[in-house]
Amino acid sequence: MNISAPGLSRVKIRALTRYVRKISGYENQVYFPIVQFIELILGDPENPNFNYEIMEPWEMEDMYGSTNTNTNTMKIRKDVYERAVEGVPRDRFTLCHELGHYLLHRPQVMAYARGKVPRYCDPEWQANTFAGELLAPYDIVKGLSAEQIAMKCGMSMQAAEIQFKEYQKC
Ligand SMILES: [Zn+2]
Repeated sequence: MNISAPGLSRVKIRALTRYVRKISGYENQVYFPIVQFIELILGDPENPNFNYEIMEPWEMEDMYGSTNTNTNTMKIRKDVYERAVEGVPRDRFTLCHELGHYLLHRPQVMAYARGKVPRYCDPEWQANTFAGELLAPYDIVKGLSAEQIAMKCGMSMQAAEIQFKEYQKC
């Protein structure tokens, strides 16, 4: 069984990432501080709706992170978290991906699907798209090369290339 989410286009996901940046005050900042966002905004003790836990690698099997929207808990593997703090692109992306699951995939909207799930309903595609759009918003990086996007936004070349190609279409 595959899991399916309500369909979301890249344009809709882009609008949501713009909103996330706006409410957190990072609207015009090229480098999105995902660790601070999770710690300060979502991890605020006065926000009982969000919990995050740093897990030992052996507790996580082969996952870097996981988000349970039933319990509003994000689990992040300790080494991933530490590298994200240091700014390692791949690990920053992992945290943004988990944030995407947290915001997009509330339990009441998810469904099991028989057979192949279309890309726009695939929760993993949605979370990856969310992460790419959040790290490199069109408004900020348009006109930059993929290399510049990678460097300024703290993204891997692979993730930056995807955003760069998408923005050629805009
Ligand atoms: Zn995922």
